[in-house]
Amino acid sequence: MSVFERLIATTLPLVPSPIIRTVASRYVAGETLDDAFSAVEGLNREGASATLDVLGEDVTRREETRFFVDEYKRALAGIAARNLDSNVSVKLSAMGLKFDPQLAWENFREVALEARRHGNFVRIDMEDSSVTQATIDLFRRARAEFDNVGIVLQAYLRRTQKDVADAIAERWSVRICKGIYVESPTLALRDPDLIRRNYAYVTDRMLAGKIPVGIATHDEAMVLEALHAIERHGRRREEYEFQMLMGVAVGLRRLILAQGHRLRVYVPFGTAWKGYSLRRLKENPAIVRHVLAGVFKGNRGL
Ligand SMILES: Cc1cc2nc3c(=O)[nH]c(=O)nc-3n(C[C@H](O)[C@H](O)[C@H](O)COP(=O)(O)OP(=O)(O)OC[C@H]3O[C@@H](n4cnc5c(N)ncnc54)[C@H](O)[C@@H]3O)c2cc1C
Repeated sequence: MSVFERLIATTLPLVPSPIIRTVASRYVAGETLDDAFSAVEGLNREGASATLDVLGEDVTRREETRFFVDEYKRALAGIAARNLDSNVSVKLSAMGLKFDPQLAWENFREVALEARRHGNFVRIDMEDSSVTQATIDLFRRARAEFDNVGIVLQAYLRRTQKDVADAIAERWSVRICKGIYVESPTLALRDPDLIRRNYAYVTDRMLAGKIPVGIATHDEAMVLEALHAIERHGRRREEYEFQMLMGVAVGLRRLILAQGHRLRVYVPFGTAWKGYSLRRLKENPAIVRHVLAGVFKGNRGL
């Protein structure tokens, strides 16, 4: 990213909402559940499955968690009613984990029960390191009662090698990603090459250990490493899947699908679309260039 683009990325919050909204439509399905269902229908037609994420930021009160529980239950019911190929991804902070772990457990349990009622699955997203252990603790508690739940591990965390060993021993369903939060170097690798080496290593371990793995990356080198490991360990098509974010690396997504692998797209939706989109925009310099074009040419069609 050029210095100029970097500057624009950090001042993106000042960009007028209609422009952000136009660019955001690539990364976010829309504000409502119906928008999300339409996006999933499109992806299913393309041969991809989906996972729905209800967007939200900074849940700090008990009453706010209720909205997320109800919205996830509506999502699960709607997926079943429309016969869509999608599960859901839940952030435990939206369930109350950061201020009341028992409430988070009760909320999560309600969502997992609804998923089970519909024969569906709930993935617990992994958030910043202040809640890694609490997230794994709640997941273990859930596993004692449910077999339709999975977790996410982050290759940048130094602890992940040990967590992967536990995952294999306890037969978890794991989504492996690099990790998206800013973490201290005592807890997390910072060097992109080291993160990639760890990503390839732990993915190989899990494929060798024959647990269900969601390989979440848009990094072609990591996709290639995973394909080699899948072949090396003789994993069958239904035992793993690739995962990508909506709107990111669409060309690579189509190539993976065309090669006959399963691929799930993470579909965020909800009224909190602006914060999410700003984060996506900051991560992708090419998109920042489009935003620039929109800002300076007054072109809202982008
Ligand atoms: C399905 C899915 C679920 C995830 N769940 C979590 C989670 O629970 N917890 C967590 O910490 N992280 C999560 N992540 C994010 C992940 O940790 C990485 O930060 C992100 O995927 C970028 O890493 P990468 O492997 O794609 O490689 P990178 O090298 O970062 O990206 C490869 C290329 O893809 C493009 N790209 C990648 N990410 C984006 C983006 N967000 N917006 C625009 N362009 C992008 C860029 O052009 C980049 O050059 C998830 C990612 C995916 C795909």
